[in-house]
Amino acid sequence: IKWAQMGLLQPTLDVFAKLKYEKPTPIQSQAIPIAESGKDMIGIAKTGSGKTLAFGVPMIRHILDQRPLKSSDGPIGLILAPTRELCTQIVNELKPFLKASGLHIAGVFGGPPVTEHIALAKRGGNHVLVGTAGRLIDLMQANQGRVLNFKRVTYVVLDEADRMFDMGFEPQVLKILANIRPDRQTIMFSATLPKNMASLARKELTRPVEVTI
Ligand code: AMP
Repeated sequence: IKWAQMGLLQPTLDVFAKLKYEKPTPIQSQAIPIAESGKDMIGIAKTGSGKTLAFGVPMIRHILDQRPLKSSDGPIGLILAPTRELCTQIVNELKPFLKASGLHIAGVFGGPPVTEHIALAKRGGNHVLVGTAGRLIDLMQANQGRVLNFKRVTYVVLDEADRMFDMGFEPQVLKILANIRPDRQTIMFSATLPKNMASLARKELTRPVEVTI
């Protein structure tokens, strides 16, 4: 299968051409049509499989369907990842695609002072936030919830969910999800699907399609 057969938006195709990514990886060719159809999805795939664009490309179409975003609004896409390294990697990988569609993305994770991220959240205008669960909760709770709200969030990704669980972030992840509208689209990516994650998926995802590569 080729990119041209997938019905992608032209700005996305242009970035693939520029980066010389000639064709979709197996997880991309399976996951992109499912996620673009609006369905919840569980993807079983490891780093290196191309999973970031498998959830990132459908997210762009989703956001373009939801525009405009006022600067006082919170993000539309929210990506949770276990570590700041992974957050940075996701931001860097998705940024050219978002930029080509006129959209903005930012990362929020432990390390930089929280005041920096509070200022960023207050400025608004980011269609996508990529964050670790801890920092997202700090922002969610800052100034009685007046800094960052998840009212506009309708596309949620839990990336490397098994690692987030191994690191003990399940309560924080659940707390964030409890603050997001239930009619959101939710995508979970994980290298494995242990019992505790399958049960979280049953509670937090709606009739998810499972994709394994
Ligand atoms: P990921 O599994 O998302 O961490 O991606 C692994 C690496 O593969 C990243 O450096 C991507 O930029 C690259 N990549 C993703 N999709 C493709 C593709 N279709 N063709 C070539 N490289 C890709």
